[in-house]
This record gives sequence, structure tokens and C-alpha cells, in this order.
Amino acid sequence: MSALIITSVAGPGAVAVRSDDEDYAESTMDAVPIALTKHEGGRSVEIQWSDGVAQHLTARVLRDRCPCATCREKKAAAAKQSQSGVRSLNILSAAELQPLQVTGMTPAGSYAYNIAFSDGHGSGVYTLEYLRELPGTGTETSTGISTR
Ligand SMILES: [Zn+2]
Repeated sequence: MSALIITSVAGPGAVAVRSDDEDYAESTMDAVPIALTKHEGGRSVEIQWSDGVAQHLTARVLRDRCPCATCREKKAAAAKQSQSGVRSLNILSAAELQPLQVTGMTPAGSYAYNIAFSDGHGSGVYTLEYLRELPGTGTETSTGISTR
């Protein structure tokens, strides 16, 4: 009898503390990529996340959202220009006329990837959190990106 009482007091208390820790860890630490697959020679990539979400991102989406300082400055300048009503023609280089491809995706630290593109640009460092929020297509599950 007394053994049973001791067990029931110690048991649920210990379990509750442990599960609180796990919830905290999950909310501050997002899923991590467990597999990266290039499709169509790099025109799109698929990220398989540890929580079961498969995120399909085109090279164009990734390139347009390059978070490096140069691209952010360019984007800010373009936004300012379109606000002022001045329109300039985009002059595309030969490389930009080719279908854009992801040529390299290498880990930068534990929580980011450095992504290189076929247009020669490769200084953007995409954090996992940032990648996860990019608009992917196809195979997200209902517990995935749309709920965040
Ligand atoms: Zn960039």
C-alpha cells in the first residue's frame, strides 16, 4: 500500500516536469532538414524536415529572397524607384537568361545554409527559420508551414 502511494506521488510529478522541458525545447528549436534533394538539375530543391514536412522551393524563389546585404539593398532601391514612379528597364545578363539553378547548398554553422546559384551569386546565408518560412509548393502537411 505505502509503496503504491509513493509511486503515484513521485511518478506524475516527474513526468510533468520532463514534458514541460520538451515543450519548451520544441517551441524554441524548429525542425531541422534531414535531406536536401535537387530537382531538374537544381531548378528547384526539396527540403525534407525532421517533423515530416517536405518543402519544395524553386531556385527563383530562393534567389529572389536572397538575404545578403547586396540583394536587400537592391530590393530596397527597386522599391523606392517603383514608389516614385520611375521605371527602369531590367537589363539581363546572359547568365540571368538561363534557367536559374541552385548550384550549391552548404551548411553555414548549425542553423543556416549558404546557397549558391547558377547566375554566379552565392553570398546569401539562409537560416533554417527563414527557409522554413519561404513559400514552397506541393507537399507541406497540415501541421506544417501554414500553421506557423
Ligand atoms: Zn544576395
